[in-house]
Amino acid sequence: MYSMKAFAPLLVSLSLGAFAATAWSAPETTTGISVKVQQIRNATIKIDFSGTTFLVDPMLSAKGEFPGFPGTYRSELRNPLVDLPFPVKDVLESVEAVVVTHTHTDHWDEAAQKAIPKNLPIFTQNEADAKIIRNQGFKDVRVLEASSTFNGVRLSKTGGQHGTDLWFADPARAEAMGPVMGVVFSAPKAKTVYVAGDTVWRPEVDQALKQYKPDVVILNTGSAIMSGFEEHPIIMGKQDTLQAAKAAPNAAIVAVHMDAVNHMSLSRKELRGFLQDQKIEKRVMIPEDGETLRF
Ligand SMILES: [Zn+2]
Repeated sequence: MYSMKAFAPLLVSLSLGAFAATAWSAPETTTGISVKVQQIRNATIKIDFSGTTFLVDPMLSAKGEFPGFPGTYRSELRNPLVDLPFPVKDVLESVEAVVVTHTHTDHWDEAAQKAIPKNLPIFTQNEADAKIIRNQGFKDVRVLEASSTFNGVRLSKTGGQHGTDLWFADPARAEAMGPVMGVVFSAPKAKTVYVAGDTVWRPEVDQALKQYKPDVVILNTGSAIMSGFEEHPIIMGKQDTLQAAKAAPNAAIVAVHMDAVNHMSLSRKELRGFLQDQKIEKRVMIPEDGETLRF
């Protein structure tokens, strides 16, 4: 939910095989432990990391279950735009912990709140989000510190901004978006995975790339836009993806958060075309809903 009183228009309650697997060859590493990343839908992904399965940003509603986000591009469309690729129980299978980067509806919806077992550990960005989720009945809600561990996996909180500086120059608009986080998953002898979260390209993202040197970088690239701010998307788009690919030349980039909620202005198809024009299509993977990538 873009929950926000002072800025009414923003008030909201907010196949595989298409990817040519042969196009990508994973970077050489010294590690033997593989990482699986499964695109579920939108920003919802499952990461099987070093033997532990995390679910990130679950939006589990059926197609069309909630209205478009008011004050955003194509708000007349209902969300989600598409169904989950398989039943909710399969999404939740073997999940041992959940990471909620922020509590906007397209990352943490009522369906997720209903379906996820109340005793499952939930990692949040701050006390405010933890309180919201505890009040929804969850018993083991944790605030991700600069660095926390779970089952031997280190989770490191990274920064970002859910919009451009121009958008954030207005306090009401800034409050409407609120803080967000990204997360780096790391463990000895495992590949490092960086989930950037709902942020545009920012110094914080660049810093995370330099600091953690991730093998896999997951970006939310649907270029979501608010009405009247078409030039100032609130998450990454084409150019941000290009920036990230340049800044992390040895990483596999995975692009998600497209084709699933109303205010996305960049589709997988359009991003794919752009990547081809830039000749970086082998650097950036665009999984279909349900597709699993192995690193
Ligand atoms: Zn989002």
